[in-house]
Formats: sequence, C-alpha cells, structure tokens
Amino acid sequence: MIVMKKSLSYFFNLFYPRTCVCCEEVLLDQEELMCLDCRFDLPLVDNGDYHLNAVTKIFEGRVLVEKGASFMYYQEKGKTKQLIHELKYKNNQKIGYFLACWFGNELIESKRFHGFDCIIPVPLHKRKFKKRGYNQLTVFGRQLGVLLAVDYREDLLKRVSFTNTQTKKKRLDRFQNTHAKFVLEKPNFLRNKHILLIDDVVTTGATLEACCKELLSIDQVKISILTMAITG
Ligand SMILES: [Zn+2]
Repeated sequence: MIVMKKSLSYFFNLFYPRTCVCCEEVLLDQEELMCLDCRFDLPLVDNGDYHLNAVTKIFEGRVLVEKGASFMYYQEKGKTKQLIHELKYKNNQKIGYFLACWFGNELIESKRFHGFDCIIPVPLHKRKFKKRGYNQLTVFGRQLGVLLAVDYREDLLKRVSFTNTQTKKKRLDRFQNTHAKFVLEKPNFLRNKHILLIDDVVTTGATLEACCKELLSIDQVKISILTMAITG
C-alpha cells in the first residue's frame, strides 16, 4: 500500500510538480513549501530579549507593549513579500501553518516568550472576510496556539467601519490609517489576562495600536505583539 502511494505521488509530481512558493524551483521530496535555498535566504529578525527590539520600538510612547516579536523582515521584491502575498491573496494557507511551526519552535526554544493567556488576531472587516473567504491569520494563530499551549480566539475583538462623519476626520488622522475601528466582545473574559496580539506585517503599527487601545480599556490587561513580518 505504501509503495502504491509512493508511486502515485511520483506520477502526480511528474505532471504537477510541487514548486517552491518563492522561486518556483521544483521541490525535493523532503522539502515542504519552500526550497532549502529560499529558506536559508529568508531575512530573519533577531528579537533580542523580546522586551526591547524592532517591534516594541514601534509602539514606544504610544501604547504599552510587554513583549514583541517578528519573524522576518519585509522588503519590496523580497521573499517575505512573496510569502505574505501568497498567503493573503492566493489562499495558500499552508504558509500560515509553515510559519507558525518554524517561528513557534524558535519561540519555545528561546524560553523567553511565554506567559500569555490568549492569542487574538487583528480582525478582518466582515466585508473583507466575505470577499477573501478567510482571515490570513487563522491557521497561523491556531497553530501558534497549539505550540505555545495558548487559546486562540477570533471572537473577542471585532472590526467595524467608521461612520461617514468619522471618516471625514482630519487629514492627519487619515494619514495615520485610523480608519480601522475595533470593538470588544465579552470584555469581562479578558480581564486580568495577558493577550498576544498577532498580525501579518507591521509597518507604522497604526492598526495594531488601535487594537491595543481598545484592549487596554479592559481592567488589568497586558499586551504583547507578534507579527509574521516587519518592514525593514
Ligand atoms: Zn525556492
């Protein structure tokens, strides 16, 4: 049976070869999603002690963030951009799983990135969710939750639209990308909890900051932030 399975996959690969999501080279049997060369080339982030690094610096003087971590640097035309693009717009959700396993194991090994009660993703607006069909953070967040033994919850923070009068706010506000508005569901559940807020790419941090502000309105809440990538 195993032999048959093997030969079937051999023929399947002959006609539909598995290719690297970054460079499109045919993958070797033992390679998954990305070839070894591309894996080696990914610009990984050094998160230091998780308290003071590129991620936490973004939020300095804006909102209190306990720990911060990001996996890869995001550059125009880089491999990270390709990965995120495939995940976000091509429904390649395996990438979320792949990144969560890789990053998750690194976090566990560091023995310094723990103590969270719940993982919450930056929510998609209902309309966007309908159009895309999935939140690009779901598979990533769930798997990260499995590895870190932390609950993954998508039902506690929701994204809503601004009303017309609100979107006509000052230009400065718009520049800071504050169109996004978030509301809490079941805030009592989050009292006294340490939340790990996750997103795909952090650039100015405006969206994450808006989420943090909402979450920090709850009593005794602590927030840490983790993203797949950071603009660098
Ligand atoms: Zn490759």
